[in-house]
Amino acid sequence: MVRKGKVPTVAYFCMEFGLHPDFPIYSGGLGVLAGDYLKAAADEGYPVVGVGILWRKGYTAQYINDQGYPDDRVPEFNNFSFLKDTGVKVRVTIKGQPVTCKVWMVDHFQNAPLYLLDADLPENQEPWLTHFLYRGSGDDRIAQEIILGVGGVRALRALGIAVDIYHFNEGHAVLAGIELIREKMAAGLSFDQALNATRQQIVFTTHTPVPAGNEAHHHGALVYVGAYNGLAYEQMKRIGGDPFNMTVAGLRLATLTNAVSQLHGETAQAMWHQVTDASSIIAITNGVHQKTWQAPNIARAANDWEHLIEAHQANKQHLLAVIQQRTGQVLNPDALLIGFARRAATYKRGDLILRNRDELIPLLESGRIQLVFSGKAHPQDEGGKNMVAKIVALAKAFPGKVVFLENYDMALGQILTRGCDIWLNNPQRPLEASGTSGMKAGMNGVLNFSTLDGWWVEGCRHGVNGWQFGDGYTGPNQDQHDLTALYHVLKNEILPTYEQDKAKWARMMQASIATCTQRFSSRRLINDYYERLYLPLVTAEQKIS
Ligand SMILES: *Cc1c(COP(=O)(O)O)cnc(C)c1O
Repeated sequence: MVRKGKVPTVAYFCMEFGLHPDFPIYSGGLGVLAGDYLKAAADEGYPVVGVGILWRKGYTAQYINDQGYPDDRVPEFNNFSFLKDTGVKVRVTIKGQPVTCKVWMVDHFQNAPLYLLDADLPENQEPWLTHFLYRGSGDDRIAQEIILGVGGVRALRALGIAVDIYHFNEGHAVLAGIELIREKMAAGLSFDQALNATRQQIVFTTHTPVPAGNEAHHHGALVYVGAYNGLAYEQMKRIGGDPFNMTVAGLRLATLTNAVSQLHGETAQAMWHQVTDASSIIAITNGVHQKTWQAPNIARAANDWEHLIEAHQANKQHLLAVIQQRTGQVLNPDALLIGFARRAATYKRGDLILRNRDELIPLLESGRIQLVFSGKAHPQDEGGKNMVAKIVALAKAFPGKVVFLENYDMALGQILTRGCDIWLNNPQRPLEASGTSGMKAGMNGVLNFSTLDGWWVEGCRHGVNGWQFGDGYTGPNQDQHDLTALYHVLKNEILPTYEQDKAKWARMMQASIATCTQRFSSRRLINDYYERLYLPLVTAEQKIS
C-alpha cells in the first residue's frame, strides 16, 4: 500500500452510483463499480470524494406484461432521509438559460462522501433534467453531462474541496475537463497551456468495447445546449473530434487511462490506437466490495467444507423462497441451479443456453438442472427486450424448472449471486469489458461457468475454481461453437461433480472464494488505482514543477 508523502485527493466523477438497493441512482455494472469504489475508499481511508447526480426517479423498473413482453415503469422511491444538505448551490448554463443545482452529500452507506447535483428546483425551467438516468433525448443527455461535469467542478470549488486528481469513470464526465480548461484560460493561460495543465490532473477509465456504448455528439448539438463552455469549435474538435466522441475526449484529456480487465486493456488499445494525442491505456481489473456482496455466513464458513455447503444451502433456500414469493414457482433445493442475471444487452447472449432445445429439454425434464434468469433491457433496446421475451416464454413452458425474475437490481443481484449453484456468463468475446457479477458469485462459492471474456480470463482455473467453455474462441460461428462447448462442459464436468462428488464441489467453492476475495475485491482495485493511476500523476507533476 502507498501511504508515503502526500496521498492525493481524488474526485471521482460518474453518471451513476450503486451504493444500496434502496438508493437506485444507478442502472447497472458501471454504477455498482462506482459505489463499491467509494466504499473501498472509506474502508481504506483514502481521500476520495464522488461526484454524481441525484436521479430523483431513478432508472427504470421492469415488469413483464400480459403478453409476456418486458415493459418499463417509473420506479417508486422517495425516501431521501439520508441525504445531507450541504447548503451549496451552483449554477451552469444550459441552452442559454441559467440552471441552478443544489448539492447534496451522502455518506450513509459507509462510503467516501458522495456529492450529488440536483436540478429539481422551482427556479429551473427544466427541473426534470435530473429525474431519469439514461432517458430522454440526445440534447437532454448533453445537458445532464454539463450538470455532472461543469456543475461537478463548480460544486467542488464551492465546497472548498482541494482536489489533486479528477477521475472520470466513463466518458459521461469529460465536460468536467472542459470546465478545468475554462478556469485556467480565465486565469490567463492560453488554450494549449490550459489543456496541458489540465491533462496533468485527469485520469480516465474506459469501459465498453461495444461501439454504440461510446457516445458521440454533433457539434451543432453541443453548441445549442452549451457544452462548449466558452471554448471554440477548433478547440473542442481537437479534444473530441467531429462528431465529438466522449471516449476520445477522455483519452485526450487524461494523462493516464485504464481499461477494466487485462483482456479489455488489449481490446481498448486496439480499438483506440488511431486516436492521436491520446493517453496510454493500462489495465486495472475491476473488483467488488466484499462486505456488500459476500454473505456473512459464507465468510464465516469458508474454512470448513461441510459448514460451507450448509451455509450455501441456506443461501440457496433463501433464493428459492424469494422465487416462490415472486413467481409462485417451487424449485428443488437439491438439483443444480444455474443463474444468469445481467443487463439484457444482446452481446451478452442471455438466451444462448436456450438455443439447443435437444440438449436443454431432457436436462430440464429429468430435473437435473433448473434455470433462473433476470435482467433489464434499456427502454429503447428492442433486441434486448426480445431476448427477455424469449426467456419468459421458456419459463412459461417449463414451470418449476425455469424462472424469470422481473426488475433485476442490486437487491436481487445480491440474492442471486449468493443463492445459485453456478453462475453462467456467455458474452460474445471480447465485448464484456470486465463483468463483476461473477466476482460477487465467486466470493459466495457460487461457481463461475463462463466463456473466457472479461475478468474470467484472469480468474479461471478450469475445474479448480469454476469452469470455462469455448476456449476463448473468436472465429466465425462463435455462437454455435460456444453453445456446443457449453453443453459439453455442463454434462461432462459440472453435473457429475455436483451429483457425485460433494467434497470436490466444496473444494472448488473454497478455491473460488479465495480467488475472488484476494484478487477481485474493490480493496485491491483502489490500491491499484492509487499505485498505478493516481500516484504516477502526482510524481510526474512534482518532477515538472
Ligand atoms: C453487479 C451488478 C451488475 C454488473 O454485473 P455484470 O456481470 O457486469 O453484468 C449489473 N447490475 C446489477 C444490479 C448488479 O448488481
